[in-house]
Formats: sequence, C-alpha cells, structure tokens
Amino acid sequence: MTQKIPFSLEFFPPQTDAGVAKLRDTRAQLAQLKPEFFSVTYGAGGSTQERTFDTVFEIQDEGLEAAPHLSCIGSTKDSIRAILNRYRERGIKRIVALRGDLPSGVQGGGELRYANELVEFIRAETGDWFSIEVAAYPEYHPQARNAQADLDAFKRKVAAGANSAITQYFFNVDAYLHFRDECEAMGISIPIVPGIMPIVSFSKLARFSDACGAEIPRWMRRKFESFGDDTDSVKAFGLDVVTDLAAKLIDAGAPSLHFYSMNQAGPTSTIVERLGLV
Ligand code: FAD
Repeated sequence: MTQKIPFSLEFFPPQTDAGVAKLRDTRAQLAQLKPEFFSVTYGAGGSTQERTFDTVFEIQDEGLEAAPHLSCIGSTKDSIRAILNRYRERGIKRIVALRGDLPSGVQGGGELRYANELVEFIRAETGDWFSIEVAAYPEYHPQARNAQADLDAFKRKVAAGANSAITQYFFNVDAYLHFRDECEAMGISIPIVPGIMPIVSFSKLARFSDACGAEIPRWMRRKFESFGDDTDSVKAFGLDVVTDLAAKLIDAGAPSLHFYSMNQAGPTSTIVERLGLV
C-alpha cells in the first residue's frame, strides 16, 4: 500500500484569454485534489511576466496557495525588489527561486548571475517572510561543468537559505536516490521533492527532454515510438509509467511530489487518484 504524501502542482501562465479561461477550469478540477500549493512559472527576460502575476493573484484570490517562480537572469536588483514587495503585499508566502533561461537571441546580463545569489538577495531583502524552493537536478544540469560542480552549486543555494528543492523531471528512480544520497553525504538536509512529468505526447516530451537534459530511457522511447499516431496508447502507457515511477519514489521515502501539470487536469488527476493521494 502506497503511503499518502502531500503534493503540489505547476502551471505556466496562459498567453491568451481562451487559455486563461481553460486554466480556470483546470484549476477548479485540480483544486478538488487538495494540493499543498500551485506554482506558476515565470519567463526570464520575456514579455510574459505580467501574465505570471495575473495567474498568481487569481489563484491567491480563490483562497488557494500560489507559489510564483521568480528568475534572476537578465534582471536588476531593483526590479526583483519591486516584485518581492508586490508579492509580500498580496500575502504570498512561498517562492520558487531560479536563475532562469533567457529566450534564444535575448542578451544575458543582470545583477544576479546564479540562483544562489537570488536566494541570498531574497533573504537579505525579506528575511524569513518567504519559504524558498530551489531547483535540483538528479541527472545534473546540462550546463554544469561536471556532476560535483553541480552538487556544489546546489549546496550554495541551500546555504543561502533555501527551505526545500523541487527536481527537474526524470524517469530513472536511481538517479533521484543517488542524488539524495550525495546530498545527504554533503550535509544537505532540506526536502528534495521529485518533479513528476505526466506524459501526454511523446514528440513534445522528446523535444522538451532534449532541451532540459532529462533522459528518456531507451525502453520507454522504443515503446512510445511503436505507438506511432495512436495517441490513446501513448496516453495509457504514459499514465502507467509515470504512476509506477511516482509509486516507487513514494516507497523510497520521497517527502512530497510536484506535478508539472502542463495546464491539463486529466493526466495529473488520474495519477494522483491511482496513487491514492486524494
Ligand atoms: P542555478 O542553480 O544558478 O544553476 C545553473 C547552472 O549554473 C548549473 O549548471 C550550475 O551547476 C551552474 N552554476 C551555479 N553556480 C555557479 C557558479 N558560481 N559558477 C559556475 N557555474 C555555476 N526556468 C524559467 O525560466 N522559468 C521558470 O519558471 C522555471 N521553473 C523551473 C522549475 C523547476 C522545478 C526547475 C527544475 C526548473 C525550472 N526552470 C525555469 C528552468 C531553470 O531556470 C533552468 O534549468 C536554468 O537553466 C537553471 O536554473 P537554476 O535555478 O537551477 O540555476
């Protein structure tokens, strides 16, 4: 019998009015599952930032807990300070603090280069007001010089004041367990929450995974490829694989789960219900 642990959900800010209306529906369905919080992604250096604020405040106004993502790449300290103040005034208590990735073609820069500097800045500006989540990479960040350098970078984020970490998604339980052991050996004791990616389209997943450095195991890739355009089989196999992964992580002691909902209610609800987390 799988243990009942808490879970959280992630949305991206919709870019159209139709998307906003659809997300309201999705949220109403997912809120019934009673997640701990809903996080909302934030586009570094892009034009979508106001939409993140709109989505965050709408969630908060519905009486649910919203956790905005905040990235620092390409931003000034003044602009980040202004955002932190805005969130504080609205009673937001949790932030996912990231370096972020600039859209291709946009120049870098900014006053804070890495996520540990952002965490340090948030603590210096706002003390203990926010609970801070940071990103973790069981398969290591694609730009890391090497595995140990990435672990050291993770440790700096924790030392700067992170309360908890959410991982990049992965499909290999051993990668998570190994990362957790490495962290423990380095004296890192914050909860490391697995990020879970429900699979609805294999082509999208493959594109996304190449970009963010998440490995799709060969056996999964070959099986998905064998379904071709049969989307029902892709979805059914995706649900089985991801539910099984999440169940193994719970059995291995994961403190909580964070679902990358992709703004869809169906796949996440099915997995959460199958796991008996509701
Ligand atoms: P960092 O922790 O700063 O690490 C980035 C890289 O720099 C790593 O390779 C690290 O090893 C290296 N590094 C760190 N410190 C140093 C140093 N001092 N010297 C040299 N190298 C160093 N992106 C968005 O744009 N918006 C989002 O909303 C968003 N949400 C996310 C949520 C989660 C849970 C996760 C896992 C990722 C998310 N991302 C988001 C993607 C993330 O922004 C990218 O993975 C980004 O490339 C790294 O961000 P980070 O906070 O992990 O960076």
